Amino acid sequence: MLKAPRRAARAGWLAIDPATRASLEIDRAQSGAREGSLLACVDRTITSAGGRALAERITRPLRDPAAINHRLDAVEWLLERRDLRRDLREVLSGSADVARAVTRLALGRGGPRDLAAVRSGLKTAEAVSALFARSPDPLTGPPAEIEARLSDLSPTPDTGALLIDLQEGLVDEPPHLARDGGLVRPGWRPELEAVRTLRDDSRKVIVDLEQRAQTESGVAFKVKHNAVLGYFLETSAKNAEPLLRPQADSPFIHRQTLANQVRFTTVELSELDAKISQAGARALAMEGEIFEGWRRTVADLAAPLQAVADALAELDAAAALAEWAVEAGAVRPHVDGSLIFQVSGGRHPVVEAAVTRAGDPYTPNNCALDGSGADCARLSIVTGPNMAGKSTFLRQNALLVVLAQAGAFVPAKSMRLGVVDRLFSRVGAGDDLARGRSTFMMEMVETAAILTQATDRSFVVLDEIGRGTATYDGLAIAWAVAEALHETNRARTLFATHYHELARLEERLDHVCNLSMKAREWNGELVFLHEAAPGAADRSYGVQVAKLAGVPPSVVGRAREVLDRLEADKASSVRLDDLPLFAVHEPEPVSGPSPTDEALAAINPDELSPREALEALYRLKGLARP
Ligand code: ADP
Repeated sequence: MLKAPRRAARAGWLAIDPATRASLEIDRAQSGAREGSLLACVDRTITSAGGRALAERITRPLRDPAAINHRLDAVEWLLERRDLRRDLREVLSGSADVARAVTRLALGRGGPRDLAAVRSGLKTAEAVSALFARSPDPLTGPPAEIEARLSDLSPTPDTGALLIDLQEGLVDEPPHLARDGGLVRPGWRPELEAVRTLRDDSRKVIVDLEQRAQTESGVAFKVKHNAVLGYFLETSAKNAEPLLRPQADSPFIHRQTLANQVRFTTVELSELDAKISQAGARALAMEGEIFEGWRRTVADLAAPLQAVADALAELDAAAALAEWAVEAGAVRPHVDGSLIFQVSGGRHPVVEAAVTRAGDPYTPNNCALDGSGADCARLSIVTGPNMAGKSTFLRQNALLVVLAQAGAFVPAKSMRLGVVDRLFSRVGAGDDLARGRSTFMMEMVETAAILTQATDRSFVVLDEIGRGTATYDGLAIAWAVAEALHETNRARTLFATHYHELARLEERLDHVCNLSMKAREWNGELVFLHEAAPGAADRSYGVQVAKLAGVPPSVVGRAREVLDRLEADKASSVRLDDLPLFAVHEPEPVSGPSPTDEALAAINPDELSPREALEALYRLKGLARP
């Protein structure tokens, strides 16, 4: 029957809430389509059941390092055996969807084609077992994960008998509905065959009868059949005229007159009709019984049949992950119980595919975090201009966690991962106005959820949190959230922000490091290197991005003027260092002349009157005041 429902919230899975799922585009892109999601990108399965098994792995990754490594063992083993993998995929490609068929049959909704699917699944299971038996591994057998699947595939006496029955008894291409008959192979059941012969022989007699009726009456007849009259003889109204006149010994009995046709029967025909319909009904009933017998057997064997279906699906998923790993140049992640997250040469599989399709290279990036803070930082502040690749970098690392814990290889040079219990990904309020919600409110609700749920085993990715409100408000919130994640939750965190001020957390907190996405100005043009390097971004390049985006040159020129003015005239705006929040840390001493130096340089003692000298002294004293 149906598999019993299992509670998903038990300890075995990596928790990914719906907002994170959407933000990372795990099985659906932001557009809602499957296309563009992580799942669509890595899916190389060839059966629909395999596709479902892969989706299950990717959308519900594991949390137990041992279980994850079992899956990885299987993928690695299949990856190393190209020929076996190719043959396996070839065999699987012919298999039907056994799981669905068994469920339908068990629920009493299935038809003969579902029986054919069960037969196809059992045959595939046989072929797969033979394949693995034929290529024995002299040194090491398959890993436990594959062994377990193979043992599910080997037939029990009951499933073996069912397969023989279906192969011998069920026609190659059964009809859609059992009640239409024609599903049992000719000659398989003698009783059924006898009835069928009776039915079919009578049909032959009818063909003769048409001929005889014509010769006897000299009228052109056709034998026809419908549900109301059964078999009858039909001729045109004109031909029928002589037959309709009362005649003592005419064998033709009038049944029906239509606009252009007249229908007759004879005693012999109606007897044959009764015989045929009885035999037909009898054959149908017998086929129905045979079908019902098979259906019940399938329902009784639902558990081992589902195990076969699952094994085929899981083998498809594992082989597909191996196939993708080869294509994508992915490596086996090292998964353990530490709090480390260490990726070298990581790539975002979906963005990489898109960028490569457009003919550009994808820049791999490193990322290292340690929840314990012992090896490296627990929290990284990621700064850099818009379009530099911050979001991609953040999501890339979160997706590597998903892939690794799904038991998949990861697009990177190497990866070490201490398993994550909960994964969070949030992007600061975008433009969700269409849904009529206060996006900033939503952003804060989601941030609150992270702060209450994240543990020191969690992995948090925050992109531009605090963007949805006024600058100082937003900066203050971003600052406090980063501090809390670092101090209280202690989760491994990547925190992208356009508030460069947050870079100062590096000096204030023990386990924070700054990363920035590099960009260069080259011949007045901005070039993004998409490279994450240590250190904070020196500036935001907003004006350059505006220029890249096609903002008219006059506006860009004017913006540059305003920016220069603002930068030269910083004293006129409120400075962050004046805020108590940041007051502890003084900015680095500015290199170049201080106002005092400048004032001193402007004085020429030889030219001063005593009164001017006194004034200069007062001015200098004013400048020296803290
Ligand atoms: P940001 O979040 O900094 O505004 P995005 O992460 O949205 O920037 O990246 C902008 C674009 O840059 C992406 O759509 C992608 O085309 C490209 N890009 C990002 N990261 C890389 C990379 N590592 N290598 C190549 N191209 C990249």
